[in-house]
Amino acid sequence: MKQLPEFIKGLVAEGKLKHTVDENLSVDWPWTKIAGPCSVEGGPGDACNIVDIAKEMKRLGANAFRAGAYKPCTYPVTETKTNGWKEGLREEGLQLLKLVKEETGLPIVTEIMHDKQLTDETLDIVDVVQVGTRNAQNYDLLDALGHIEKPILLKRGLYGQLEDMLGAAERIMAGGNTRVAICPRGVGGGPSYRHVFGSIWSPDLMVIPALNEVTNMPVIYDPSHATGYRNFVPAISKAALAAGAHGLIIECHPDPENSISDPDQAIDYNTLSTIF
Ligand code: PEP
Ligand code: MN
Repeated sequence: MKQLPEFIKGLVAEGKLKHTVDENLSVDWPWTKIAGPCSVEGGPGDACNIVDIAKEMKRLGANAFRAGAYKPCTYPVTETKTNGWKEGLREEGLQLLKLVKEETGLPIVTEIMHDKQLTDETLDIVDVVQVGTRNAQNYDLLDALGHIEKPILLKRGLYGQLEDMLGAAERIMAGGNTRVAICPRGVGGGPSYRHVFGSIWSPDLMVIPALNEVTNMPVIYDPSHATGYRNFVPAISKAALAAGAHGLIIECHPDPENSISDPDQAIDYNTLSTIF
């Protein structure tokens, strides 16, 4: 039995924390090596073909594929600047992910931004629903995710405290869906490396043993968004696993500097193979 810290015990006593701290919670979570580009950029015939990337991810050892079809960006992105890409290829991107699944058999991990997007057609394509950091407090979405039969990769909110992470996971689990992994992905607002490396994020490694101490949820760490800088991704991947993470989700691209989104943090195929 885990020794729960006093403040957690208090929340349990008040009935606010129930599922995530349940010692019997045992989550079947095979998606431990998730890799792929930040965004779905194109398909067969396009310069950056998502199917080719996915085949390479599989060859390098990934057991799930990531890529965003819906991409909330900090600033609105205009189509003219990005050659038709406007914060994700959206429904077209989902169809390309369907093709990836057919061609590679890899399970698809991708972000859903809104409860209205949880249609049967979408859930046929998506194997693990990613909740983005900007949506970690989208309570309508979290409540809706409690009622679907897909596992959830729940990112840490931009400024999420441990309580916020547990509360968000509790919301999903309260609906009956207990297949939730928590995904710390760095924090903003604390000490950042903006002036030296251009990154506004800092890795949040301490939260890994903290989560392991109070929950039985799998912890899948995201070293790409946590660093915002590709040179640091291998070291922080190792650090996260050493700290007790159960798996990693990593951004990887055939031409990292020219990724349509998050170009500073994507790693190349070689680096991914070294990490895996
Ligand atoms: C992503 O995974 O590409 C992403 C947008 O992550 P986050 O929500 O953590 O910023
Ligand atoms: Mn990204």
